Amino acid sequence: MAMKYQILIVGGGNAGISTASKLLLKNKNLNIGIIEPSDKHYYQPAWTLVGGGTFNIADTERKEADFIPKGTTWIRDAVATFQPEKNTVTTREGKVIEYEYLIVCPGIQLNWNKVEGLPETLGKNGVCSNYSFETAPYTFEVLKNLKSGTAIFTAPGTAVKCGGAPQKIMYLAGDYLRKHGLTDQVKVEFVSAGSVIFGIEKYANTLKKVAARYKIGLHFKHDLIKVDGPGHKATFRVTAPDGSVSEETRSFEMLHVTPPQSAPDFIQNSPLANEGGWVDVDKHTLQHNKYPNIFSLGDASGMPNSKTGAAVRKQAPVLVDNLLAVMAGNTPKASYNGYSSCPIVTGYGKLMLAEFDYDNHPTETFPFNQAKERWTMWVLKRYILPWLYWNKILKGTM
Ligand SMILES: Cc1cc2nc3c(=O)[nH]c(=O)nc-3n(C[C@H](O)[C@H](O)[C@H](O)COP(=O)(O)OP(=O)(O)OC[C@H]3O[C@@H](n4cnc5c(N)ncnc54)[C@H](O)[C@@H]3O)c2cc1C
Repeated sequence: MAMKYQILIVGGGNAGISTASKLLLKNKNLNIGIIEPSDKHYYQPAWTLVGGGTFNIADTERKEADFIPKGTTWIRDAVATFQPEKNTVTTREGKVIEYEYLIVCPGIQLNWNKVEGLPETLGKNGVCSNYSFETAPYTFEVLKNLKSGTAIFTAPGTAVKCGGAPQKIMYLAGDYLRKHGLTDQVKVEFVSAGSVIFGIEKYANTLKKVAARYKIGLHFKHDLIKVDGPGHKATFRVTAPDGSVSEETRSFEMLHVTPPQSAPDFIQNSPLANEGGWVDVDKHTLQHNKYPNIFSLGDASGMPNSKTGAAVRKQAPVLVDNLLAVMAGNTPKASYNGYSSCPIVTGYGKLMLAEFDYDNHPTETFPFNQAKERWTMWVLKRYILPWLYWNKILKGTM
């Protein structure tokens, strides 16, 4: 007999668990199933600090079982395909699971293999990345051993989770080298496929000053396409202002890679996807544009916001209100304004908290100028947010 849930959630990460918890706080009798393959849950925002040697990697990992809300059913499997016309999903193990309402939030996919030579050399030869639990600790190993040469920090041309993360570790590295008197021996380079340091001028102005402080070279429209680990060489596809394209190879002692990212393949290949491959939902109500009993939030969703856990925190209550409204036969009225936040670490004990909406208008929480680097905002990221994540956000109370 097919399993059936009133609400089925695909993905038990930040979005899936906090949304399930919030739904149960509104109505404890809801029959919710959560499909999640991993038996571990990660607090990914702290991987930046792990790479900077100021957070213990073990503290970013907990047992998934401890966060599955009581009263829900955890299906330890992964979704392979969707049959929205039949209100079913099929899992990798071949189970067919039925739903009345579906919430899709399996996160973003890291495409390491889109950079030639990267999978083979990641985690050795000075090639590191804070983008996974396995590789974040190696970033600090490389940084500690750096005495001369060039440290390159890349950013791809695709959407990424936490658009600030490629730079945060670079500023930590810059500060580390400054503290150890190595600023003039090690050249730090930001080599990015993007065209600006940050999309909002108010915050960009601060970051330009931070980059200058650490003597960081800024290179835009440079997309990493190939890594030769043993040869310590990285090749970029460079787009000139006139649109012409060429290749450029740079030597490195340290290469911190932010991998190209996309919607997960099983979303891209499903009837749920929009043209870009993400879950095709209304950017304000988070309801699917074709299937009214399907909703989505988090990194896999198609809203044009900057993909962060902070965005999930503002999306979850909107989704919950709208889903419950639809279940009661009403029109979804709650609206998400594209809020996202990027706590940009600019050094040890220094952070600029950028907050903004769909229109790139700053939407700041605190009654002071958040474009300024502050120690208090560092304390928020280093100590307060991790605690809030495990104790409030995943419990649905924040
Ligand atoms: C280095 C780094 C720094 C970051 N810094 C910040 C920060 O400072 N502030 C901030 O707000 N955010 C930050 N983020 C981003 C934040 O972690 C993500 O935006 C957030 O986790 C998104 O939540 P999600 O639930 O959409 O995805 P995730 O939390 O990634 O969860 C997705 C879940 O879906 C599961 N899944 C995958 N495939 C399937 C499948 N086929 N079937 C079922 N389940 C599946 C996965 O196992 C996973 O548990 C950072 C991320 C990184 C990597």
